[in-house]
Amino acid sequence: MKSTTDAIQIRRSAKAKRLRLAVKPGLIELVIPRGIGESQAMAFLDKHRFWAEGKLLELNDRASRIPPVGNFASSPTLPWRGKEVPLIIREAPGLRVRVALDEAVHIALPEGLGEARDEVALRAFYAWVRRWLCGQVAVLAERHAPRCKLRPREIRVKRMKTRWGSCGPRNDMNINWLLALAPESVLEYVVVHELCHVSERNHSPAFWSLVAMHLPNYAEEKRWLKLHGAELMRRFN
Ligand SMILES: [Zn+2]
Repeated sequence: MKSTTDAIQIRRSAKAKRLRLAVKPGLIELVIPRGIGESQAMAFLDKHRFWAEGKLLELNDRASRIPPVGNFASSPTLPWRGKEVPLIIREAPGLRVRVALDEAVHIALPEGLGEARDEVALRAFYAWVRRWLCGQVAVLAERHAPRCKLRPREIRVKRMKTRWGSCGPRNDMNINWLLALAPESVLEYVVVHELCHVSERNHSPAFWSLVAMHLPNYAEEKRWLKLHGAELMRRFN
């Protein structure tokens, strides 16, 4: 799942041997060698744009996989699977950093962390969510993969600043850790969305009908992300 970019720069080069897309942080460059016409270059761009945009967003994400410090630990609640639940922090001397979940998210912290308190709490939560969500995503992928033989090579949960998920050229699937905080149906939609990219590497009508085959009501989950996704990213990224 990607946002499109306008950051495509065209460079004509006398030295270049072939048409290519160079992906650099914040920029996709279309390099056109001598003797290649506009329409051929544009057709090449069309064909490879999807891959290049994924690469670009991956580069942008790479710098910031660990959540920054904010006021995470002072919030009395936390969204969890689409509902706001209490965040209960227990601090005592010598306590090991631990995260547990029942009707609330519990984080145990050693006393006396001072300014590092917030960062330690958020990192512990992030690490715990990643492990938990990896298992959830595997179950969801298994639920949907067999029908169309859509097999990801590897599933990773990580921090992504601009996307909810991605599916690389070798079918490595990345899922945004914040989806643990969204309703389960939304997580399922993103997993299905990325699975469908294994066979359709674009957002064509064929792609969307494949998504609909797995999840006929996917439009609702898409709408949820549109309405609440930005807020979730703002609050935790
Ligand atoms: Zn997509």
